[in-house]
Amino acid sequence: MTADEFAALCVQPGCTLRQALASLNETARGVLLVVDADRRLRRTLTDGDLRRAALRQVNDGTAIADLPGQAAITVDTDASLARVVALLDQHQIDHLPVVDEAGRVVDVMFRRELSQRIWLSSPHLGDEETAFVEDAFKTNWIAPLGPHVDGFERELAAHVGVGHGAAVSSGTAAIHLALLLLGVQPGDTVFCSSLTFVGSCNPILYCGARPVFIDCEPQTWNMSPPALASAFEWARREGRLPRAVIVVNLYGQSADMDALLPICERYGVPVLEDAAESLGALYKGRASGSFGRIGVYSFNGNKIITTSGGGMVVADDPAVVERARKLATQARETAAHYEHLEMGFNYRMSNVLAGIGRGQLRVLEQRVEQRRQVFDRYREALSDQSQVNWMPEPAGFRSTRWLTCFTMLGADARLRRDRVLRALERHSIEARPVWKPMHRQPLFRGAPFFAHADRDVSTELFETGICLPSGSNLTAGQQGRVIEQLRRALALAEDGRAAA
Ligand SMILES: *Cc1c(COP(=O)(O)O)cnc(C)c1O
Repeated sequence: MTADEFAALCVQPGCTLRQALASLNETARGVLLVVDADRRLRRTLTDGDLRRAALRQVNDGTAIADLPGQAAITVDTDASLARVVALLDQHQIDHLPVVDEAGRVVDVMFRRELSQRIWLSSPHLGDEETAFVEDAFKTNWIAPLGPHVDGFERELAAHVGVGHGAAVSSGTAAIHLALLLLGVQPGDTVFCSSLTFVGSCNPILYCGARPVFIDCEPQTWNMSPPALASAFEWARREGRLPRAVIVVNLYGQSADMDALLPICERYGVPVLEDAAESLGALYKGRASGSFGRIGVYSFNGNKIITTSGGGMVVADDPAVVERARKLATQARETAAHYEHLEMGFNYRMSNVLAGIGRGQLRVLEQRVEQRRQVFDRYREALSDQSQVNWMPEPAGFRSTRWLTCFTMLGADARLRRDRVLRALERHSIEARPVWKPMHRQPLFRGAPFFAHADRDVSTELFETGICLPSGSNLTAGQQGRVIEQLRRALALAEDGRAAA
């Protein structure tokens, strides 16, 4: 509902029954909000109220303020979606006015809209996945491994221009294996981007190693080269270089590899590239995920392509990938009796899921285009919003816009951001804050953190950032609903600030 549509639902108490009927007919929402001059809600007026008035043969010139009726059930602006739904159910009503701290009506919730939730990023299958999965069923090659696993590994590695790939059960498993392959041992330190999902760095703990977190830079939202340089200087002074650096590519965009890789090379420390969120992205024409000694992708359900759950380790060195496969298969030696020399894991991907992956890979480029279009539509539709600052895409970078993200500009940005998130959630739109930085997580309390010069950029982005619904299967209608609600939520957040 746009601000104009909302305004059309508001009528003055002096309005006649006839005028109200005409408004109700025109707005077709089944309800009008009877408000005073200062936007305080007097009551609601529903189709039912008018029907009852007609049955009692009330004169249609009567002012609606004089009709019998009860005080409206309302909800305040901080109410959760669950609270809204509970009130609708409890009172068996289909609409619920929203009232701000000053008692003014600012919004109205409709049951029908709430039943159509809009997701942040939902799976989007193509036409070929079923054929691959059926083939796995027909040949009874369900699990483990099998021809689709080999095919998926080959096809994905070729797609990103890396020598080899090992398909595994998740992106997190892929990172765990990659750390082991880079020789991470208990007591080692590993550098990692702080602004990321915990899946990037939980595997550091699996290895018994200790994370050191590196801030991001404002122009890419990814690892800050000056912060990385100061972390290395510190590590050298301490006489303990990290065993590896995990560079994360956030929200579909590569980190600035030309600035980061030479720093790591100077210290002889290998890079593990976490490209879980950036499959399909390019950096200076080359595939994201192909820059590290080892690269890692995820096919979790919310990623740009999915196998319902899965991951991939990629590397140019065939020995590295061969060893990843071995560790992922309980570290079995080649002997009929299952000989074991070292500890392994059950991390391999099944043949059925790899079949889904092969189908998904065929639509990857299409998905990138669709996500970029989603971003472009948001940016165009909201180009007049001076408080919205979109995640930048510097020259030479091609983001997939896996998620469309922005930060709020201006005073009280965090407060206003929280208001916007609450308003969207109330309308059953799944938007989220930007990742909470790992150096702010209780799990990693005490871990060293190196900021971008004298600014903690990841905390700034976390406190003011919003990720919008960005799925490649988001319909124009759904995106229109997000844009309308966001526009209203941004205005309300500003209003709230003025009132406060
Ligand atoms: C999703 C994700 C992971 C983990 O992948 P899973 O397949 O969910 O285990 C790791 N790092 C980042 C940045 C991610 O977004």
